[in-house]
Amino acid sequence: MLAIELYRSVPRYVAARAVGERFPGLLAGPVAPLRLVNREDPSPPADGWARLRPRLAGICGSDLSTLAGRSSFYFSPLVSMPFVPGHEVVGELVDDVDGLTAGTRVVLDPVLSCATRGLEPCPSCAAGTTGRCDRVTVGHVSPGLQTGYCADTGGGWSRQLVAHRSQMHPLPDRLSDRKAVLVEPLACAVHAALRAAPGPGASVLVVGAGTVGILTLLALREFTGAGRITVVAKHPGQRELARGYGATDVVDVPGAVGALRRSSRALRLKPERGGEFLLGGVDVSIDCVGSRSSLELCLRTTRAGGRVVMTGLPTAGADLTPLWFRELELVGAYASGTERVNGDERRTFELAVDLAADAPIEGVVGAVYPLRDWRRAIDHALDAGRLGTAKVVFDPRED
Ligand SMILES: [Zn+2]
Repeated sequence: MLAIELYRSVPRYVAARAVGERFPGLLAGPVAPLRLVNREDPSPPADGWARLRPRLAGICGSDLSTLAGRSSFYFSPLVSMPFVPGHEVVGELVDDVDGLTAGTRVVLDPVLSCATRGLEPCPSCAAGTTGRCDRVTVGHVSPGLQTGYCADTGGGWSRQLVAHRSQMHPLPDRLSDRKAVLVEPLACAVHAALRAAPGPGASVLVVGAGTVGILTLLALREFTGAGRITVVAKHPGQRELARGYGATDVVDVPGAVGALRRSSRALRLKPERGGEFLLGGVDVSIDCVGSRSSLELCLRTTRAGGRVVMTGLPTAGADLTPLWFRELELVGAYASGTERVNGDERRTFELAVDLAADAPIEGVVGAVYPLRDWRRAIDHALDAGRLGTAKVVFDPRED
């Protein structure tokens, strides 16, 4: 079976870490810790598992951070090598499994929680908050916080993987593959919007207008009563998308603090060194980038007592002074689980499937590559914003 594999080679991994910072263009080249391989089909490790053939599989910002060695070494015990990346997957079942028949089209909830590992549920899984599972390193399969980081399951960047019944959500026919491949990032966006939980009419800042930012904006409009939403977008194509998806204001990075000062009637201060900040500001901010500067922009423009949500995979080094001085609430939003919407408990993935079917997100997938063109695909994804593309995906069925 054809697959793209991420293998650990410590010297190469360290080299990618060092080089990734300075020469991002090299990442898809000779220092990439990736290779195209023909590997054995992964086999179902226990009852309740089945084989799945990917139809489309997305390239996520967290995949790119992993390739670049930008993600924290914190993750190293939470993955098992070598693994096939790809956790944004729409595919079709090869086997019948617990009420689903072979050929059924499904999207994958990638979290490898207690149910997939044959374990009694941990407190988080018992409460339906599977993204917070404590047992992602034990049980039927090797360590791996998600499919796409586990040596035993395979991943979306291949012709075949295995998945547990609890990870699969069947799709209505009206949901195209191009929309369905966005269900996983959309579930994360819905979860982030509900973790942000802006009150009725609250002002919200969304930093970043790549796939995560755009889908978070969509989820804020669908599931919260947010008032003014200001989106910070780097590239012209992103600004246009943000306007189309319901942003009140769309600003570029240099203009962000000034625009937020005006809209929130705050006081702007300029420190001797470092970025400007506000006394006053937005009620809630959401970092959809995960860089030091994006998090600092959120911390520096959120009003005292407000909330800052981190949904991008973070990098280290932000100045936390405003967190203390402004008594901010810093909230993480990882993966998905169960949400309470209008008094009802719903799986985040069910909400995301419904929203994907109804929302005009057909154009978010901007480029499709076969596995053999992985270097071009990764290059494109690394530079997607500038090239006017939101999401780059693989079609593993193509030669
Ligand atoms: Zn668990």
